Amino acid sequence: MMSDLVSPFKAFLKQHGYQLTSERVEIAQVVSLQRRIFTTEGLIAQLKEGGYRQSRGTVYSTVRLLVESGLIVQLPQASEAHYLTSEQASLYAVCRCRSCGAEVLYRQPRRLQALRHTTMHRYRLAQPLLIFSGICQRCEREIAKTNNKKSATQSGRQQQASSSR
Ligand SMILES: [Zn+2]
Repeated sequence: MMSDLVSPFKAFLKQHGYQLTSERVEIAQVVSLQRRIFTTEGLIAQLKEGGYRQSRGTVYSTVRLLVESGLIVQLPQASEAHYLTSEQASLYAVCRCRSCGAEVLYRQPRRLQALRHTTMHRYRLAQPLLIFSGICQRCEREIAKTNNKKSATQSGRQQQASSSR
């Protein structure tokens, strides 16, 4: 089931006195198709592929409006902003590797549904965003390798020490 992000976005623009342009609507259409974590640069590339001619500035400002409307959520991030549609954020948890920064989506509709129904005092329409911070499998293997090397050199030194005695 795919919900329409475009009509609530149109309503948001109208309600807040922003111009409803065909460029903004086209960008929202492309955003509504995103099923993974995306960046504005990624959207610009997709729009270009689709033959659209929006300026970078328009794409960036429209993404900011989509965040403001709550239809997409910006993931907490230091460098380039990453986004996820609010619809996907209500189905998937984000697992982020604290070593390499890789982000993977995990389907958690029940858990997120429960969070959504948690009433937030003094907040309306709170959008839960579930992020797990951990170590990805690849980094775990790298860490294990480095540790093995370390312990190998340590035991090597110990052997040297014992043989020199
Ligand atoms: Zn990693």
